[in-house]
Amino acid sequence: MKGAAEEKGAQGANARTNAAASADALTAAPAAVDCGTAIGAQSTFTIIAGPCAVESRTQLAQVAATVSELGLHHLRAGAYKPRTSPYSFQGLGAKALPMLRDVAAEFNLRTVTEICDPAHADAVADVADILQIGTRNMANYALLKTVGRLAAVRQKPVLLKRGMAATIEEWLQAAEYLRCEDAAVLFCERGIRTFETATRFTLDVMAVPLVKQLAAATVLVDVSHATGRADLVPAAARAALAAGADGIMVEVHPDPAHAKSDGRQSLTPAQLMQLCAELTPLAVACGKKIV
Ligand code: PEP
Ligand code: MN
Repeated sequence: MKGAAEEKGAQGANARTNAAASADALTAAPAAVDCGTAIGAQSTFTIIAGPCAVESRTQLAQVAATVSELGLHHLRAGAYKPRTSPYSFQGLGAKALPMLRDVAAEFNLRTVTEICDPAHADAVADVADILQIGTRNMANYALLKTVGRLAAVRQKPVLLKRGMAATIEEWLQAAEYLRCEDAAVLFCERGIRTFETATRFTLDVMAVPLVKQLAAATVLVDVSHATGRADLVPAAARAALAAGADGIMVEVHPDPAHAKSDGRQSLTPAQLMQLCAELTPLAVACGKKIV
């Protein structure tokens, strides 16, 4: 339990952090975020790949093998899945965490997985190198505070998805909840709701340069949720790279047709290889190496 003076001191520290963050936003160049392998370095374009959800050890390992073979370093996979329908697959939950830990260790990959509930936060942080906050929780301020504190203590960055109906201003404010706890934040644009229904969401490409400019931050693009269609993922990835994103997040499943979630937007491992091959010359032209 914190005493009143300590609490006040902490608030003071937070206020200073806020002021410093605002000043930094005007002057600083975005700093790479260290998470075992840096994300956001000027010369790299990070690809975080993996299934929407951990379904089995074998499924995860099949994707991890390709991620590692491509020389990438980050494996994504949800253990806890925040689904729109309560009748949809909710993730394997706690059972998925050791699978994620073991497969990542086997292929020497860093892990990105979502925290949906403060009750799971510690257990997730035990296996995650990057703590993901999903679009449905961007404005869950109690969760942001818990995860922000945890991220600062564990020295693990938070990947903050943009709320699907959040303005850039609201997204920046949500990030402040994390930053004022001294957590490092990776912003992730993942598409927003518009009147358009041809794609699952609408990729707001201009969010990339805007947030980089306004928050002096690392900005990634989730090209899978932004489109909802595997065939559009390569174009979204090219747009992200050309717009100056620091990387992309992409869903990959060994058998998308039978995926328990988000199969329509998932690439096969072979398609991930093709995507990397296609992006390489563009990355080189942008002075970046795909990692
Ligand atoms: C996810 O990354 O699998 C996910 C659920 O993303 P979002 O929160 O952006 O929908
Ligand atoms: Mn998904």
